[in-house]
Amino acid sequence: MSETRNVVIIGSGCAGHTAALYTARAKLSPLVVEGHEPGGQLSLTTLVENFPGFPDGIMGPQLIENMRKQAERFGAEYRLAHLSRADLTQSPFLLHLGHHQLHARALIIASGASARWLGLPNEQKLIGHGVSSCATCDGFFFSGKEIVVVGGGDSAMEEAIFLTRFATKVTLIHRRDSFRASKIMLERAQRNPKIHFLTDTVVEDVYDPSKQEVTGLKLRNVKTGEVYDFPTSALFLGIGHEPNAKMFHGQLETDAEGYLKTHNYVHTRVHGVYACGDVQDRRYRQAITAAGTGCMAALEAERFLEEHGPVKPAE
Ligand code: NAP
Repeated sequence: MSETRNVVIIGSGCAGHTAALYTARAKLSPLVVEGHEPGGQLSLTTLVENFPGFPDGIMGPQLIENMRKQAERFGAEYRLAHLSRADLTQSPFLLHLGHHQLHARALIIASGASARWLGLPNEQKLIGHGVSSCATCDGFFFSGKEIVVVGGGDSAMEEAIFLTRFATKVTLIHRRDSFRASKIMLERAQRNPKIHFLTDTVVEDVYDPSKQEVTGLKLRNVKTGEVYDFPTSALFLGIGHEPNAKMFHGQLETDAEGYLKTHNYVHTRVHGVYACGDVQDRRYRQAITAAGTGCMAALEAERFLEEHGPVKPAE
């Protein structure tokens, strides 16, 4: 018999865990589909200093683990799988988790956003061999080496600062000469003697796939047009994220960059389908705002299920 759940939550970042906590406490036995990157972006970060309630900060992976434990205590179930396809035209909604199918009476999309790549000719060949989008995962491998970080936002600053623990020198390359990063993060990076800034510069390619390691970069100064080689042992990207919403394209409205469009905070155009966290938020993108919209989505799902007949226990 096909499995039918009251609430299925797609994604296990801050928004997903919060939606799980609230729907579990409403006795809806939510199922959380963990997705490709369990724990979401917080699990890839270091010290989180701006989540209220932790005056000394808390490590991102610890915060996300605490959220999960809290939701599980009230009966949320987690499944290591990812959503490949969904049919939102039928009710309950049909969800494909690889070869397995299940139905959801209400659906909460908290699938977040994933790291963006530069699209360089050799980039994909060198992922795991010196090209990375996760400083906390891969920084250790470059102890005593010189590292490049690309980007001009808070992620790039955070990565560069973190990587100075391992690297002898971190060069931060940015395509403009002004920064999107918050003042406090930018100043921290600027004060760090190991961090050097290279502005108005873009990376055109990364060497050397034939050696299975990063040996250098081809750079271009966008103002002078000068193209030159720059030796380095690693290339870390901190250039933002892409929303994980492709599996809903054609069924739910998206904006030009693929973020899910919502109205009244978390409602999609399909009744019973809610979107929360970074998959629908291109403006704030904070752990606390993701948690907030996860809570809203859960309360709306609960209301929807109350209005649409008795809520049966999960089958
Ligand atoms: P972001 O603010 O969108 O910054 C992305 C940066 O990458 C921008 O400087 C952008 O350049 C650059 N970029 C994008 N595509 C590029 C390309 N193809 N080639 C070269 N450069 C490219 O993303 P983010 O830094 O990941 O931050 C996202 C949100 O999370 C922000 O709200 C941020 O405050 C928050 N965040 C907070 C913390 C913290 O407080 N500890 C840490 C990380 C992130 P342009 O500026 O030229 O567009």
